[in-house]
Amino acid sequence: MAKKKFQLVKGMSDILPQEQKYWDYVFQTVEQVFRLGGFKKITIPILEFTELFEKSTGQDTDIVQKEMYTFTDLGGNLVSLCPEGTPSVVRAYIEHGMAQWQKPVKLYYIGPMFRYERPQAGRRRQFWQIGYEVFGDGSAASDVEVILIFYQILEKLGISGFTLQINSIGCSKCRAKFKEELLFYYKGRLPEACANCKERFKKNPLRLLDCKERKCQKLVSLSPQIVDLLCSDCKGHFQEVLEFLDDLEIPYNLNPYLVRGLDYYNRTVFEFWPSGDGETSLGSQTALGGGGRYDDLVELFGGKPTPATGAALGVERVIQLIKDQKLKISEPSPIFVFVVQLGDEAKKKSVKLIYQLRKAGIGAESSLGRESIKSQMKTAAKLGISTTLIIGQKEVLDDTVIIKDMNSGVQETVNFNEIIDELKKRLPR
Ligand code: AMP
Repeated sequence: MAKKKFQLVKGMSDILPQEQKYWDYVFQTVEQVFRLGGFKKITIPILEFTELFEKSTGQDTDIVQKEMYTFTDLGGNLVSLCPEGTPSVVRAYIEHGMAQWQKPVKLYYIGPMFRYERPQAGRRRQFWQIGYEVFGDGSAASDVEVILIFYQILEKLGISGFTLQINSIGCSKCRAKFKEELLFYYKGRLPEACANCKERFKKNPLRLLDCKERKCQKLVSLSPQIVDLLCSDCKGHFQEVLEFLDDLEIPYNLNPYLVRGLDYYNRTVFEFWPSGDGETSLGSQTALGGGGRYDDLVELFGGKPTPATGAALGVERVIQLIKDQKLKISEPSPIFVFVVQLGDEAKKKSVKLIYQLRKAGIGAESSLGRESIKSQMKTAAKLGISTTLIIGQKEVLDDTVIIKDMNSGVQETVNFNEIIDELKKRLPR
């Protein structure tokens, strides 16, 4: 019987060794930005009760309706793999009494998310998000801080050519009024809309504005704009946000049709999109990430009313942009010595030497399974390591090691106990 060859589950990815430098670079960069911004790290689980997302992300959103990996566990609990991080962070904020902490409470997280979507460029079923949340500050300045953190991350990564899309979706009162107008506008035009939009019309009218279908885009472009219907408080808040951005000379694009798909947002919403034609291979999945204010969610989850705002960015998309823009990123310091041995005693001594080298902070590689010096040297050359340390039978007896420079061919014998000092003297870091 033919043996089964296993393959990746559709929409999942292996992150191979040659890719890791991008991931390290992104994680290290964002951690630095968050530390400087006074954010504390939180690690959330990948599994939560399904109800958490139904209640926050929203029953009628695509995520909850169609995209969650939901199952009943062996204890009979209905659970889901996290499709996004904000609901978990809000749960943790309440569950661990963070309301008692000095406000604003600023948290960030990095983790895999799961959505059963149609995989394509920039869209996977498991993907990584970097997200952050600020609790306890309802001011426009807090919205701007959240936007600036995102901006700073992109800047610090060296990414150029991105635009900030921004809008306000008001409070529940503004939205109720807007929904009415939207439904009125769409009612007579529904035959022109796609099948999805017909569903959205019934279940989640705001999402009508998110449709990417060409014929629906035309409908969207003439539809009412929520900014025209904001109450005076929400209008004032939004104006303040924009004034801050003007003052800071942060360019933005007022996008009256940006609503973001989730139920919990209010007031400011934003996304960062790569700009420029042909610079990205992300296809139509262009948002690098986004976020907004969600002042009612903590209360909805049983906490005290707490204004909050946050954002998340997609790591795969950011990495794709780094590659598209051919950004130079620093590689981790290379391993620089290769230990070559001949004979059983030498092998034992080599294991000890390798351990001591690494303990002293010197990268060491070897090929202990190979017997011939020639083939070990070849391996060193293939790995691009130009310094080899050789221990043969004579060196075991003399308690010495040969240092050989593979480029010049020059070699020198050094006492075993002095080898680390000697290497530190001659090898650049
Ligand atoms: P959202 O929570 O849908 O606004 O997503 C925030 C960001 O996460 C997006 O802008 C993407 O960068 C990333 N993202 C969301 N869904 C996916 C996906 N299926 N595959 C890859 N990245 C995603």
